[in-house]
Amino acid sequence: MKKNCEILISVEDLHKSFDDEKVLNGVSIDIKEGDLVSIIGPSGCGKSTFLRCINGLELLDSGTISVAGKTLRRDSSERQAGQRFMKTAHDMRKEIGIVFQGFNLFPHKTVIENVMLAPMVVKKKTYEEAEEIARAILSKVGLLGYAGRYPVTLSGGQAQRAAIARALAMAPKVMLYDEPTSALDPELVGEVLQVMRDLDAEGMTQVLVTHAMHFARDASDYVVFMDRGEIVEISDGDEMFSNPKNERTRNFLRHMM
Ligand code: ADP
Ligand code: MG
Repeated sequence: MKKNCEILISVEDLHKSFDDEKVLNGVSIDIKEGDLVSIIGPSGCGKSTFLRCINGLELLDSGTISVAGKTLRRDSSERQAGQRFMKTAHDMRKEIGIVFQGFNLFPHKTVIENVMLAPMVVKKKTYEEAEEIARAILSKVGLLGYAGRYPVTLSGGQAQRAAIARALAMAPKVMLYDEPTSALDPELVGEVLQVMRDLDAEGMTQVLVTHAMHFARDASDYVVFMDRGEIVEISDGDEMFSNPKNERTRNFLRHMM
């Protein structure tokens, strides 16, 4: 699918601390509709916090986050706090699917029940409607044959694909992934990354925090290197890995590759 030019996620001068620790220190980035963006960087540099901010799960210290036309903002002139911030964050989260390292499937529900739950509870779909949505999505991630299985009987790769399916069931405009393949045996990583490639081909906007450097290099539109709460470098994959501009990027990649 042809990439669109519309900016879907816009982050401006985002600051976030925990207690006295500055975790995000003025992060700005615009992500276009249909982009697949990989975020790499050392452990503890703020990648997960950044994703949580985009997903409206953290109160910002200052800065602006817009996702699909919904804007979270905190600055000295306008302090969105309490209920208003939470309401906007809640609206924003409806546009976003998020997948974590652990699959977080409901263990007492089958694969298809896991996928049907949010459309029924949140979107008030009927059982039949939710089932139709779930079947289409399970087919897309190659799990239709596993619809009636319980999560415990799945491989890690299948479980992660089920987790992606569950997020997709809410028809999000954006998918966020926080190290979705880090807990998987190496031979299962590919099938999960393939789902992201397929979604990319359909035009889904995706932001992926990953240690899967080859995927970041080959599949992403561009790669973001974060270090100590800052975006240090943004380059297309080949450029980032073969010709990093910043010394901090070079140091990191030297240890990773
Ligand atoms: P990464 O995902 O890049 O490994 P994180 O965003 O998880 O980094 O964490 C960045 C820093 O913020 C770490 O020092 C971590 O300890 C701290 N941090 C993250 N979440 C919290 C929290 N809820 N409370 C206190 N400190 C946190
Ligand atoms: Mg993390």
